[in-house]
Amino acid sequence: MQLSSIVASPKQLLQLCISTLHCLLASVFSKVSSWTAGTCKGSTSPVSPVDGKLDQNKVQNATTPTSVNYHFTRKCNYKCGFCFHTAKTSFVLPLEEAKRGLKLLKESGMEKINFSGGEPFLHDKGEFLGKLVQFCKQDLQLPSVSIVSNGSMIKEKWFQKYGDYLDILAISCDSFDEETNQLIGRAQGRKSHLDNLYKIRNWCQQYKVAFKINSVINTFNVDEDMTESITQLSPVRWKVFQCLLTDGENAGEKALREAERFVISDQLFQEFLDRHSSVSCLVPESNEKMRNSYLILDEYMRFLDCREGRKDPSKSVLDVGVKEAICFSGFDEKMFLKRGGKYVWSKADMKLEW
Ligand code: SF4
Repeated sequence: MQLSSIVASPKQLLQLCISTLHCLLASVFSKVSSWTAGTCKGSTSPVSPVDGKLDQNKVQNATTPTSVNYHFTRKCNYKCGFCFHTAKTSFVLPLEEAKRGLKLLKESGMEKINFSGGEPFLHDKGEFLGKLVQFCKQDLQLPSVSIVSNGSMIKEKWFQKYGDYLDILAISCDSFDEETNQLIGRAQGRKSHLDNLYKIRNWCQQYKVAFKINSVINTFNVDEDMTESITQLSPVRWKVFQCLLTDGENAGEKALREAERFVISDQLFQEFLDRHSSVSCLVPESNEKMRNSYLILDEYMRFLDCREGRKDPSKSVLDVGVKEAICFSGFDEKMFLKRGGKYVWSKADMKLEW
């Protein structure tokens, strides 16, 4: 055997080095791909670590969008200091496109739709919202259609026209002290937020819509005792949220709000809950329960993934369909069920005394 057959020439050595380097780089690249496409994003990532394409198995097994929150507008007439869905765009889909998206969601298993914002009654003086509410109940026959609003733009005429198609109306109210509402920014100028709240409560009763209240607990209202007022208003549900920071919305450089001064500790939140333990309709939502347990659609009908403490959008349901878009929603179905996300949500089943 010649020595040259077992000892490589300088040229061969160079080729060996290049080939080894190539293998090493490929291995590192594959690991990084796998971290970013798989492990780092959580086990629900639909992107294959091998070729970067959508994993069709995961698309096939995608979450059912049982309960969806469609924030069709970001514009609002209030200036709540902790707002976590701010007016970063003024875009609203054309009505027919919004209806098309809602139909796709219904075909994928949606049972409940909640319209939110921004302030949903602001666009086209509530007509856009009314038409969607009617479409979802009458055409799509959804068991539950609801709205979250600050209540300032709602007129009785709206109830007369669309009240039949609406199951639940939630009004945001963080305090029964007008001054505190002013400090929070939960007001338009010096107009009374509370007068609207009581007026709407009565309309809900008159037009047979279930009435709900949402409150965000923060540094300005954490010591308040709302037991009497809530008992008097008697909502079907009182959702009590712990003020949440979301990067790009109410925290961080690109945010339109700075909510740090509103944030309260878990302990203070618990003390607020303990003070209201006699209120049976109270449904608490800590930061942990809230963060990933909502399926949120933005104004372009993109699911927003909140797992990284900010809102990362998927592609639009209108462009890629529900199954593909929902894979990027970051939705935690277990937490959704743990926080009581599925409840009696049709007014027909609520056995309310009107
Ligand atoms: S009412 Fe307040 S929290 Fe709600 S969208 Fe308007 S500014 Fe934001």
